[in-house]
Amino acid sequence: MEKPCGTLFIVAAPSGAGKSTLVNALLEGDPAISLSVSHTTRAPRPGEQYGRHYYFLERAEFEREIAEGVFLEHAEVHGNLYGTSRRTVQELLAQGHDVLLEIDWQGAQQIRASKPDCVSVFILPPSRVELERRLRGRGSDAPEVIERRLHNSRGEIAHAHEFDFIIVNDRFDDALEDLRAIVHAVRQRSALQWKRHESLIAELLAAE
Ligand code: 5GP
Repeated sequence: MEKPCGTLFIVAAPSGAGKSTLVNALLEGDPAISLSVSHTTRAPRPGEQYGRHYYFLERAEFEREIAEGVFLEHAEVHGNLYGTSRRTVQELLAQGHDVLLEIDWQGAQQIRASKPDCVSVFILPPSRVELERRLRGRGSDAPEVIERRLHNSRGEIAHAHEFDFIIVNDRFDDALEDLRAIVHAVRQRSALQWKRHESLIAELLAAE
């Protein structure tokens, strides 16, 4: 039986919508999805580890890697460069793993252009007040960084309609259930199921 390639999931949100917490909870309960660790020129936040949260690198090095075609997509977000490793994603997908990218709308547009069968999800906060509360409550960013992210959130949210799914993260458990339901449904897509169940289908179609 031919093993189908994995599915590429994209999850995007304005900073403070609770995207990373949701994604981490999804990944914890679903070993069949791997998170692609991005590259960035942003400085590490307290507690962030190289290779686990991001591959942190200098801008000159990042720009050299862009020129070398290292990235499947890359974009400037809040004044820093971020990019997804082409090789890591392709290897994981080829091995049949689902891969999740936590990227912004610009990266999502680039991925849709090169991988039209990807599945994209946008996470909205339940209100502007709550977005601000969550962003300030994180406590790991300087006030001017928070202001910049709040200001940029409108630009991000204006692209939510380009995504296949939108989840409002009001109650965390409900939002997680919605995200899990999307992943579950996508895994039953006929293009995948037809390959997965080749022998069953052959048996069901066999001449009498
Ligand atoms: P943060 O600095 O808070 O970790 O991330 C800031 C923004 O950059 C978030 O919207 C996040 O989704 C986005 N981002 C993180 N990694 C990537 C990436 O590899 N590519 C793109 N395009 N955006 C990314």
